[in-house]
Amino acid sequence: MLKRKNLVFLGAPGAGKGTISNLLLAKHPLAHISTGDILRAEVAAGTEAGKKAGAIMKAGKLVPDELVADMVSRRLTAPDCENGFILDGFPRTIPQADLLAAALAKLGRSLDRVIYFKVPEEVLIQRLTARLCCRGCDAIYNKLFMPPKVEGKCDKCGGELYQRADDSLETAQNRLKIFREQTAPLVEYYEKRGQLFTAAGEDSADILKQILADLE
Ligand code: AMP
Repeated sequence: MLKRKNLVFLGAPGAGKGTISNLLLAKHPLAHISTGDILRAEVAAGTEAGKKAGAIMKAGKLVPDELVADMVSRRLTAPDCENGFILDGFPRTIPQADLLAAALAKLGRSLDRVIYFKVPEEVLIQRLTARLCCRGCDAIYNKLFMPPKVEGKCDKCGGELYQRADDSLETAQNRLKIFREQTAPLVEYYEKRGQLFTAAGEDSADILKQILADLE
């Protein structure tokens, strides 16, 4: 059983937040709230929010704080969040972190831990530009380090693998710049509040072990 269950996964694009979420969720029934996944679904469905977000995401920029914060506030009231959650890719700015604290306080809840995935930038670029995602089950692969058994097909569900539009070299570099400028200050923000745990390294199994030792 996890002692700490209300979690934020903080880290640059490609740091492994999604991969480690999937590994943790295989053992623990937490709600997985990925703002990137929610926004991609809104874009695909052509909703108002999706129309606002689509072009911004393609350029590798951040969508407005209020838009994502509202989506997350609503999502946090769903019954599956009662037993804990992973916020994967949110908050990404200091105003978002303040909005999250206010939304949780309204629900009489608070964060138990913010896990910071610390990965060198050259590794991030390599990972992002070689990343493949499954259309069926959101599994994540990498052409170089974690290829699927059959090219283009998901090992788990047989779904089609695709490269995200924002994983091109230029957009990936842009997203890393935005991480440095707007999201990295959250490391100090949460450190000051005594909520930060840093997981460092490149091996998923080892990182999962570090995180479980902190959460259990
Ligand atoms: P991700 O899948 O987490 O890499 O997110 C993909 C894209 O969705 C980002 O590059 C942003 O354009 C947008 N996005 C996801 N989460 C946020 C957030 N918390 N704040 C602003 N934009 C976000």
